[in-house]
Amino acid sequence: MTTEVLQQLLQWQSDCDVYEPALPTVFAWVLWENFGYLARPANKFKAWKTWVNSVGIRPQDILRVDAQTQESALHVGILPQNDLAKIRKAAELAMSRWQGDPDKILGLSRDQAIRALREFPSIGLPGAEKILLFLGKYPSLAPESNGLRVLQRLGWISNLGSYSALYKRAQEFADALSEDPSALQTYHRRLKFLGQTICKAKRPSCGKCPLDSFCPKAGVKADV
Ligand code: SF4
Repeated sequence: MTTEVLQQLLQWQSDCDVYEPALPTVFAWVLWENFGYLARPANKFKAWKTWVNSVGIRPQDILRVDAQTQESALHVGILPQNDLAKIRKAAELAMSRWQGDPDKILGLSRDQAIRALREFPSIGLPGAEKILLFLGKYPSLAPESNGLRVLQRLGWISNLGSYSALYKRAQEFADALSEDPSALQTYHRRLKFLGQTICKAKRPSCGKCPLDSFCPKAGVKADV
């Protein structure tokens, strides 16, 4: 059953691969994770392209370009000023701790790398593991909140009481699924996008869901 559902997820025609870009560096990922909090994926991606062209994705760029240019590029999400403050803080940390090159983190052991990544604003354990996944180091599913919700509703993981227990269960489930980094990246993207756009917390659109025929929660109304 799991294989069938995953196949269905892979065949799903959606824009998820368009709106979550492949990024080249640790700092670009830190920037992306702090960019456009709770913005719609399409709006975030559009603003991101403007930011890349007008500001840049290196810590040096963030510290060099004036605040007004940054504000006009980052105008999406519910807390853009907050995002900008965190992005500047991340750039300062990248310069002071990593001499402008946080890719040095990729040479550390897994635990050390996760600790170092978690020093950046907004990067918790899922964010740190996601950055490592997409940069080809220590791959895991690294599901964020939207993906976790889908996994729960499909009945693949159960709520064990705390977020950390739920996250750990999802990682164990994914370990048995695949060790292939590109497969894990695809599952991560698709689960996240499905949770953001269709399997929403309050009113999931089960009628539009590619997995509805497999899902025990199809038609659910509340946050489950
Ligand atoms: S059928 Fe509904 S509850 Fe199940 S995964 Fe799809 S959107 Fe979510």
